Amino acid sequence: MPKQELIEIPKPLDQLTATEIERKACIGKIMTYTLKSLSTTFVNKGFQWLLPVALSQSTDPLWPDPGASIEKRIEIDIYGKPVRTTASMIIHKLVAASTAYPKLFILSPNIRIEKAERAKTGKHVYEFTQLDFEVRDATSKDVFALVEEAISTLVKDLKREMKSELTTLCRCDTLKAPKTPFKTYDRVDLEAKYGADWEAGISQETTEPIWVTNIPREFYDFEDFKTGKWDNYDLFLPQFGEVLSGAKREFEYAKILKKIERDQVKKENYALILKMAKEGRLKPTAGGGIGMERLVGWIAGVKHIAETQPFPRVPGTVNEL
Ligand code: ATP
Ligand code: ASP
Ligand code: MG
Repeated sequence: MPKQELIEIPKPLDQLTATEIERKACIGKIMTYTLKSLSTTFVNKGFQWLLPVALSQSTDPLWPDPGASIEKRIEIDIYGKPVRTTASMIIHKLVAASTAYPKLFILSPNIRIEKAERAKTGKHVYEFTQLDFEVRDATSKDVFALVEEAISTLVKDLKREMKSELTTLCRCDTLKAPKTPFKTYDRVDLEAKYGADWEAGISQETTEPIWVTNIPREFYDFEDFKTGKWDNYDLFLPQFGEVLSGAKREFEYAKILKKIERDQVKKENYALILKMAKEGRLKPTAGGGIGMERLVGWIAGVKHIAETQPFPRVPGTVNEL
């Protein structure tokens, strides 16, 4: 990613020049191709495609997360009950994968009112879409293999079928189909090498996508209380940064309760998960979520991921559309 001060804020559609409209159209075609390719891979592997929801009592706490920067949480009352806009569908995924949908994915709109100072990171918008997936009885390794196949197939096919768009975006030569399997690093080793800003350090240095495991964060990711290690992962893209977060999940009542209390997350917002876990109805699952604007932004080589959005959602900026 270029230096923050060099990043221009993407403009709304009505303010684009003819050349900018051509570029926008190319990125739009790459988004369409990417959605088609990824959804086909998941459907062909037997995943159920669920439609998303926008308002729920329970959503992702986004806490504790070392990267979280939320300015405001949206909560309103409907029918006399408080509901929140979807931050991610993680809680829905755990319940759905434990019951009627053992393999599922959702193109899920997430609202996260990021602090306005994130306008020029180039990686944050305040509304985005995750391709969020979850699989019952899966391991981290199963998820790695699934995602590696999905992304390498996508890039390989796209390089063959979208040559003209990639040429317009100057990505024809620089976009390489990733080699599988991707390398895996432990966050502890990266911290020792690069310090606190290990995410930027490894993203700049690597020439291939890489997995990073063992990242302390929200209660639903699996933590081994004996070793203190977390069975979770992020996928980092070269010269870009994080594009996916996921984990093997907690499903045991005592552990979930202990972590919710430890994190000082409101227990009443997670009553259903706690009840299902207590009754033994929450199953072991693993999954993750791919940020679509980030993935397509990396493929297209954009300076700001809001360029992949028809209606840009740049932190701190509200347009009419
Ligand atoms: P970051 O640390 O980069 O701010 P995060 O770790 O807080 O992101 P997650 O909660 O892991 O984000 O969200 C899952 C995925 O959704 C991320 O890997 C990313 O691809 C995408 N994502 C998260 N926040 C944003 C955002 N504000 N804008 C665009 N995509 C996002
Ligand atoms: N989608 C992520 C996951 O599956 C959760 C998140 O959005 O942070 O773990
Ligand atoms: Mg993350």
